[in-house]
Amino acid sequence: MSSRWRPEVIDALAGVAGAQQVLTSPEDMYVYGYDGTAMVHHSPRAVVDITDAAQIAPIMRLANELDFKVIPRGAGSGLSGGSVPVDDAVVLVLTRLNRILEIDEANLTAMVEPGVITQTLHTEVESRGLFYPPDPGSGKVSTLGGNIAENSGGLRGLKYGLTKDYVMGIEVVLPNGEVIWSGNKCVKDAAGYDLKHLFIGSEGTLGIFTKALLKLIPKPAAKKTMVAYFANMRGAAEAVSAIIARRVIPATVEFLDQVTMECVEAYAKLGLNTSYGALLLIEVDGHPGQVADEAETVMAVCRECGALEFSLAKDEAEALRMAAARRVAFTALARVKPTTILEDATVPRSALPEMIDIIEACARKYNLRVGTFGHAGDGNLHPTFLTDERDHDEIARVEQAFTEMFDGALRLGGTISGEHGTGTVKMPFLARQYNDATLTMMRTIKQVLDPRDVLNPGKVLLPGRRFGERVMEGMPV
Ligand SMILES: Cc1cc2nc3c(=O)[nH]c(=O)nc-3n(C[C@H](O)[C@H](O)[C@H](O)COP(=O)(O)OP(=O)(O)OC[C@H]3O[C@@H](n4cnc5c(N)ncnc54)[C@H](O)[C@@H]3O)c2cc1C
Repeated sequence: MSSRWRPEVIDALAGVAGAQQVLTSPEDMYVYGYDGTAMVHHSPRAVVDITDAAQIAPIMRLANELDFKVIPRGAGSGLSGGSVPVDDAVVLVLTRLNRILEIDEANLTAMVEPGVITQTLHTEVESRGLFYPPDPGSGKVSTLGGNIAENSGGLRGLKYGLTKDYVMGIEVVLPNGEVIWSGNKCVKDAAGYDLKHLFIGSEGTLGIFTKALLKLIPKPAAKKTMVAYFANMRGAAEAVSAIIARRVIPATVEFLDQVTMECVEAYAKLGLNTSYGALLLIEVDGHPGQVADEAETVMAVCRECGALEFSLAKDEAEALRMAAARRVAFTALARVKPTTILEDATVPRSALPEMIDIIEACARKYNLRVGTFGHAGDGNLHPTFLTDERDHDEIARVEQAFTEMFDGALRLGGTISGEHGTGTVKMPFLARQYNDATLTMMRTIKQVLDPRDVLNPGKVLLPGRRFGERVMEGMPV
């Protein structure tokens, strides 16, 4: 740890939030040093369990005065290290800011605090016949603040889009402690710069959300859930393109490869047929008549594309059991070996078969066990290496494999992250995706908003020059 840390920070934090809300025990520091990312840990100096959003602005002012770092944290389910502390950091836990402040049925909006659990909002709005589509696989635990900070996707991204498509307004505490609001309940708003989209997906590095105004839509009246098995992942991927080519946009098109199916079956005993090479989980929703037609089309296309087995859920219980196969995939894979490294390479949907070939080739080349699942409709794959961090040789091979996979995704017009963000773990790869001017523009935005680098530093961007500065030999970009 650096020598910059000033012990009076603890008293100053207690003065703002109350002494009982400031945690400093070694056990707490250890626990809050993690998020959901494998092999990333760093203990903070203190944790503040925030009970009132009004505490955040004074803490940011203190951070600038007393030179400590602030790490916003929701549920800590992030998969790129975004809420893992750095040196001299104070973690702000935002989960107690968990009120749904308003549901406006005339304007179809919900005003929420950032610590509301994603599924809590789903349950609340669905009880009123409304729908909040963003549906990350972690929705039982993740917070809406974390979802906005990561621009989270989920199982309904293909038809309904991502978190950014449902944020109409946000209240943000800036790194200097000023508070801004961007957006409103208007369907149209062309006044000034659209600042909210600068903050959505900024991974807690540009500001801390203290309120969000979210867009709701009517809940689809009907839904049908289906599972199709294929001989291999390539066949499943081709079926996805064929379904969409027939002008059906399912709400959900998720896939599991054979390794993932085997792990899911061993864990959850759902009755999956693990002799097949790949499984597609497909859901269509909307008006009952349209849903019936679309389910017919999906079934026909899957058969034309070589599906070896197909089943349509008879009722809600069976639909939930089918969907569980996808929802438990990460947990099931994580039981197999001590270290589970999950990635997020994403390609345009039409390039999915090639990307699957690249992942399988990398696993063979580096002699690694990989289970791949993900959001097939979004071209978003989660190749998950089952490994052991104590085996340094194997970890080095995993890193090589990821580098080649990311390069492959970029060659296919894709991205190093579809939904988990850059955080710390993918910082080095960002320079493979963006040119120098783009990266320095991002750094300049951070520098302007946070000149003392107090808010979640060391995430997203490797240190480097600012926009317009001269290129220096050997400087990391
Ligand atoms: C089993 C599993 C399944 C998952 N499935 C998906 C999926 O389908 N789609 C998907 O996109 N992701 C998924 N994730 C990743 C993760 O759950 C999401 O990124 C989620 O949005 C993180 O929310 P959180 O509350 O846990 O945030 P945290 O992990 O606590 O924080 C994530 C980032 O947001 C910042 N942050 C948190 N709250 C705020 C705030 N109020 N203001 C500003 N910054 C803030 C943090 O600093 C950090 O950088 C999954 C993770 C797991 C473990």
